[in-house]
Amino acid sequence: MPAQHHRVIVLGSGPAGLTAALYTARAALEPLVVEGSEPGGQLTITTEVENFPGYPDGVQGPDMMNDLRRQAERFGTRFVRGTVGAVDLSSSPFSLESEDGTLTCDALIIATGATARLLGLESESRLMGHGVSACATCDGFFFKDKKVLVVGGGDSAMEEADFLTKFASSVSIVHRREGFRASKIMYERAQANDKIDFLLNRTVEEIHGDPAAGGVSGVTLKDPRNGETFEIDCDGIFMAIGHVPNTELFRGKLELDESGYIVTEPGRSFTSVKGVFACGDVQDKIYRQAVTAAGSGCAAAIDTERWLGARE
Ligand code: NAP
Repeated sequence: MPAQHHRVIVLGSGPAGLTAALYTARAALEPLVVEGSEPGGQLTITTEVENFPGYPDGVQGPDMMNDLRRQAERFGTRFVRGTVGAVDLSSSPFSLESEDGTLTCDALIIATGATARLLGLESESRLMGHGVSACATCDGFFFKDKKVLVVGGGDSAMEEADFLTKFASSVSIVHRREGFRASKIMYERAQANDKIDFLLNRTVEEIHGDPAAGGVSGVTLKDPRNGETFEIDCDGIFMAIGHVPNTELFRGKLELDESGYIVTEPGRSFTSVKGVFACGDVQDKIYRQAVTAAGSGCAAAIDTERWLGARE
């Protein structure tokens, strides 16, 4: 089958990818979006989104992504389901192996996102969105005067715990050892906060609760040094054990930082390969918000349009 050529291909269909598609479609570049393994991105596993500007009454994550998809489609964006298995970025046009055959493009926008690292417990996935969360900024508001746990010992855990004290009555940081990966300043800030305490040398063995009956009600923790277990009551548990950028496909082909995120020029979407742009969580380990992802998708589309214009 001959390769299908497109001027612009967008990889990923979260807020960054769909906004990049919307803008490149309106620039008459007829983008093709390869939706990826989780069409709509991380917001499709969220319930209510209350912090996206323009929705004063909040919006369900999947609904917002459907709206954004329809908006991109309205201006001529085409979509293909599935993922890309291999990319060749060594020469132009770039070539990508998709489930539908080979695709080629003049410009590539990467918006493959990042995935919150989870513990992998069955109860964790069952109660996700019902007291289990991987984003305090998104869900903290739902825990007013509640008791919550934050799992992790890095900067995210400290930051999320600190943020959650705005709402929760108490926040316990559960960490699997005594040493912290978090920077001193973030650790000290959490330590100085009266609402935060630390449960060290504790792993989460089980999360208790019923999604249909109030969600999370408690956890079983274990001391990994001697196997002793503890039951703790709580209303919510936030996973802050890191994110994994979805960049495996680009290893050795684009410059990645030590954590695997795509390196972009400061304040721009240019990657180390001319004609390849990146936006959203795949290149952002700091903000990770739907609105910042959408903003960076817009920037990548404008960079792409100007780059193609200058080349032609
Ligand atoms: P991180 O630094 O990789 O820390 C992850 C933490 O989760 C570690 O303490 C780790 O424990 C723990 N962990 C990992 N897997 C686990 C598991 N299966 N069970 C239990 N615990 C587990 O990730 P992060 O905190 O998200 O930070 C990522 C990057 O973003 C860092 O460079 C950080 O500095 C940066 N960041 C900066 C800010 C800021 O400056 N405001 C805020 C957030 C993040 P171990 O330590 O035992 O491995």
